[in-house]
Amino acid sequence: MADPSTPRPEGPGPASPPPAYPRPESWVRPCPPEQGGGLWVEPGGFHIDPVRAVERAVVTHGHSDHARPGHARVLATPGTLAIMRARLGEQAGAVQQPLPYGEPLRVGEVGVRLVPAGHVLGSAQIVLEWRGSRVVVSGDYKRRPDPTCLPFEPVPCDAFVTEATFGLPVFRHPPDADEVGKLLHSLTLFPERAHVVGVYALGKCQRLIALLRRAGYDRPVWLHGALIPMCELYRAHGVDLGDLRPATAATREDLRGQVVLSPPSAIQDKWSRRLPDPVVAYASGWMRVRQRARQRGVELPLVISDHADWDELTATIRDVGAPELWVTHGREEALVHWASGQGYRARALALIGFEDEDV
Ligand SMILES: [Zn+2]
Ligand SMILES: [Zn+2]
Repeated sequence: MADPSTPRPEGPGPASPPPAYPRPESWVRPCPPEQGGGLWVEPGGFHIDPVRAVERAVVTHGHSDHARPGHARVLATPGTLAIMRARLGEQAGAVQQPLPYGEPLRVGEVGVRLVPAGHVLGSAQIVLEWRGSRVVVSGDYKRRPDPTCLPFEPVPCDAFVTEATFGLPVFRHPPDADEVGKLLHSLTLFPERAHVVGVYALGKCQRLIALLRRAGYDRPVWLHGALIPMCELYRAHGVDLGDLRPATAATREDLRGQVVLSPPSAIQDKWSRRLPDPVVAYASGWMRVRQRARQRGVELPLVISDHADWDELTATIRDVGAPELWVTHGREEALVHWASGQGYRARALALIGFEDEDV
């Protein structure tokens, strides 16, 4: 697309005129895992979110299925690079090149710009331009406001690569404030019980704390040791999380009627059994599926997701207005079907190696 300020067609899917620029699939392609995986951007000579160690990686965000160890060079936002260093140490990339949001850069023949994706701290969509053709790789994203990261910014493009973690019409996440309200209500109902909430260490943990603070909850939030480093990293990036304390420093009595956050894997193990009569909660988009909550022994499911739900996915496809849509990461078929019905050229990208670490 030559002029980014040109308004995109409205309403039902735009018809694609014969292109005067290279077709997106001619220069951005899914890459087999044995050659690095993720997307290969040929004229730039780099992979996006490769699953194996490569020469040159551009990384959308710090979750472990996207930010893998051992690359020779990594380009990402300063936030994502900090997360990679915290999680991968020496393996975070031999050469790390920070690129702040919005700053244009040329890599090989390709223009690269990082734009907020609203998923977790540092998360970015990768805006790629080559010979007048623009492809946006959104990584993981959501559209509802998150006090811990910048909001998703729609960028008009020729091909939009979207996730589809919750790509079924049954997935409609309720308002976050209602879910946090359920937790606060349970605390008043059971003031003698600890409330242990399963949260992923990167993103969900800090967002839940920020949502609690926004709802006026100013008591200490107690943390399982595995959650502390990422909370410190968020704080160092200017995200205010209030009074946080290590749960190990508390006595059993201290934790009555308190919020204790824990990695999901620990909500049912002996770590949580030392808490006073815990109410087991879990904050995840999957809590919409009752079966999953039951399987994990979750008494208080909280449907809070860092991924777009069905309405956010379809709204985003309309907002971005790309005639071409590549769907990855989850339930591709329903979204491809919906988009095709709206006149978009849509297809599923078979990318291997992406499991939702954080939902
Ligand atoms: Zn993610
Ligand atoms: Zn992901």
